[in-house]
Amino acid sequence: MHDFKKATFENLIKTIEYRRKLPDIEIELLQKAFLTAQKAHEPQKRSSGEPYFNHVFQTAIKLAEWGLDTSTISAGLLHDTVEDTSYKLEALKKDFGDEIAFLVNGVTKLGHLKYRTSPQTEKERMEQAAENLRKMILAISEDLRVVFIKLADRLHNMKTLGAVPPQKQKRIALETLEIYAPLAYRLGMQGLSGELEDITFMYLHPEEYRWMTEHVKEQYDERVQYLEAVEILLREALKKAGITPVKIDYRAKRISSLYKKLLRANMSLEQIYDLVALRVIVNTIEDCYTALGIVHQIWPPLPGRIKDYIALPKPNGYKSLHTTVFCEDKKITEIQIRTLQMHEEAENGIAAHWAYSQAKTSKNFMEGNKNVTANQADIAWVQQLRNWQKDFTDPEEFLHSLKIDFFKHRVFAITPKGEVIDLPAGSTPIDFAYQIHSEIGDHCVGAKVNDKMVSLDYQIQSGDLVDILVQKNKKPSESWLQFAKTASAKSKIRTNLKKETSFMRKARQLELRITAADRVGLIKDLSAVISRARVNILNLTHISPAQKTSFPIIKIICDIDNREKTEKLILKLKGVTGVKEIHHQMI
Ligand code: MN
Repeated sequence: MHDFKKATFENLIKTIEYRRKLPDIEIELLQKAFLTAQKAHEPQKRSSGEPYFNHVFQTAIKLAEWGLDTSTISAGLLHDTVEDTSYKLEALKKDFGDEIAFLVNGVTKLGHLKYRTSPQTEKERMEQAAENLRKMILAISEDLRVVFIKLADRLHNMKTLGAVPPQKQKRIALETLEIYAPLAYRLGMQGLSGELEDITFMYLHPEEYRWMTEHVKEQYDERVQYLEAVEILLREALKKAGITPVKIDYRAKRISSLYKKLLRANMSLEQIYDLVALRVIVNTIEDCYTALGIVHQIWPPLPGRIKDYIALPKPNGYKSLHTTVFCEDKKITEIQIRTLQMHEEAENGIAAHWAYSQAKTSKNFMEGNKNVTANQADIAWVQQLRNWQKDFTDPEEFLHSLKIDFFKHRVFAITPKGEVIDLPAGSTPIDFAYQIHSEIGDHCVGAKVNDKMVSLDYQIQSGDLVDILVQKNKKPSESWLQFAKTASAKSKIRTNLKKETSFMRKARQLELRITAADRVGLIKDLSAVISRARVNILNLTHISPAQKTSFPIIKIICDIDNREKTEKLILKLKGVTGVKEIHHQMI
């Protein structure tokens, strides 16, 4: 390796080794992925003009920061090769094995999804569409590590969004705000979710963003300067009690959430005292409570502002101690105290959990300690994921494998307008068509999947782009019942078929009113003529005359559909003895 390359690579290793010592074999794997990605992207440049490799490298660094495994980090380095370079999946499989190839392939598939909205869509329907798309991302990924790579990739793309054309900026920012930031939030990755939201705010509301940053900056700098002085006092007091914090930092309130708060509460910036909070990270839960006591010894707390989210975590699983105190110079200041693990779980959610279980699994397994995963299992984001699929019953195993199989009974396909349709596995274009609208189902004549014509019994796969072809005169056919999977499509087809049959039957009915001199055997002779003409009698009524002097009328309704046949039949009926007159009409 060249020196400058070597230094870059060393950065990646250092980031990983911040958490755990890497065995040589993993370093070799990373080096191979690093060099392969570098070579594959060699001539490519990003819109900003920098080498393309920087993008995949930054993606890998982020994954390393989240504490993910070597396979995921390697896949992060290689994530754009299959899509954008001549280095294809087969080669990847051969060089790096099935696991890494699977991860890269997952990211490639996600790359084909586009979030499209139209301004006409109602809000509720748009939210449903966004939710379906988030589910689809999980379903296509099959493994949460694919989602992590996609999120790290998206974060770097957002950070470098300034270099792409404005129209594209807006589309990507909107997609990030509506799909990826909430997805990160659902996975408990609040740090990432907030960071993504802030960047989208800059592109979607540039005016407000400029105003906010200008006005906040002064306040912010002033606050940080003040907190630096507070930090020194706090460190001294903690030291006296024998507590060495892992770190103390300042949490600036997100620009986007600050903006929301200003709008909501109609406040001024000076009034928001949690603009910057002091965050104290300690080693143990005991240290958290001791530190809280020490804080209150130096600065009196505001009544009603002490929050113990360790004893009572927030619904999203957030754990921490919060207090707001009358600090130096009586300035109101928020202080948050938590352990490193709480901190990382608050920031990185499910990824942090994974990092921790990876570090602990082997050790705890040997000690027969199963509590680590069991306690984690009821974390709120696991619950949230569970709510997406009710029959997902084993969170522990899910966490351990990161396999996403709770959507295995569903498929998610997209309409040409970008709307996501959620269907049971095994569904066909017929189900898809009826799911969009009964009218589309009823008039469906064919379907294109990913731009290729398919038969109507094609089984839809997650991520398929399905375009239903319709024709005005087309009606559902009986055979559709065989390949419709959903109950709703089946019942709509049946309803339509019934309507159709009764309509057709009516159209083919002929009513005959035969006036004839009554005699024994008249009805039998009339019926014989009709059945010899191969016409089915549906109904026959003998209407007795009102007066003795008149002739009775025999009303016959029969199944007949053409004029020629009708005329021939009438001619023959006129030959029956006693028949005086025949009236006919189609009913
Ligand atoms: Mn990428």
